[in-house]
Amino acid sequence: MSRPGQAAIVARLRPPTGVERSIHAKLRKTYVGWLRREFLAALRRQGVTDAVEDPSPRMRALAALAEVRAKLVRDPPAMPDLDPDGAIIVTRANRAAIAATRWAGGLPSVPVVSSAETALRVAAWQVEASRYIEAIPREAIDRLERMMVQKFTDGSRVETIAKAFEEQLGVTDRHAMLLARDQTAKLNAWTHQADFATAGLNEYVWSTSDDERVREGHRELDGTVHRWDEEPPIVDQRTQERGHPGEVFQCRCVALPVAVARGSARA
Ligand SMILES: [Zn+2]
Repeated sequence: MSRPGQAAIVARLRPPTGVERSIHAKLRKTYVGWLRREFLAALRRQGVTDAVEDPSPRMRALAALAEVRAKLVRDPPAMPDLDPDGAIIVTRANRAAIAATRWAGGLPSVPVVSSAETALRVAAWQVEASRYIEAIPREAIDRLERMMVQKFTDGSRVETIAKAFEEQLGVTDRHAMLLARDQTAKLNAWTHQADFATAGLNEYVWSTSDDERVREGHRELDGTVHRWDEEPPIVDQRTQERGHPGEVFQCRCVALPVAVARGSARA
């Protein structure tokens, strides 16, 4: 690790919050809306069909949840389209930073970014992000079921259960927001990597985000220089996990391009 000269850093990139918000809005609309609709409809059905045997509200709610789970397997909500307004915005910001960095480093400002390589990275990101996103409703149903089994007695009132359900939807919404943030950071990291490499900028400066409680290990990395084509530094002392900025869970650090030639007087 070495530290760059002042001239090396010309762009302060941050994970694009607009992209996070747009992904979060899609996840909320798709999953929180679906869960509420399906659960309330299933509760109504349970209330009607089981009225003769008069089961407890908790039993009805658990039966309703089982219905929602079955529906999730049979006819799940359509995955929101992740393509790729976000990716385009991320890429555009990257390319502006790259152009500025090449200019500052005295390199010719030719467009050398490979769209094909970036498209590959975006496609890989979509596959991975989809895996996390698909789990949102299943995890929400699991949480709700656990809560109903542990917290409620058969005598719990329907209103109490409905209120707890709304609270759980709030938890699901926050989960969706964290996921949107995390996946946007990862998209940022992966497209950065592709764009920087094809622009011939193999080094980057690690830069922590100012708007979070930066992890101690990441604070130590702030301002240090690394290479995309080398093994990334250890970002988690406990697990010894390695990663470039933004790659590990909830990391909001970013990579800043470096265009200072080796041995250059400008550094
Ligand atoms: Zn970080």
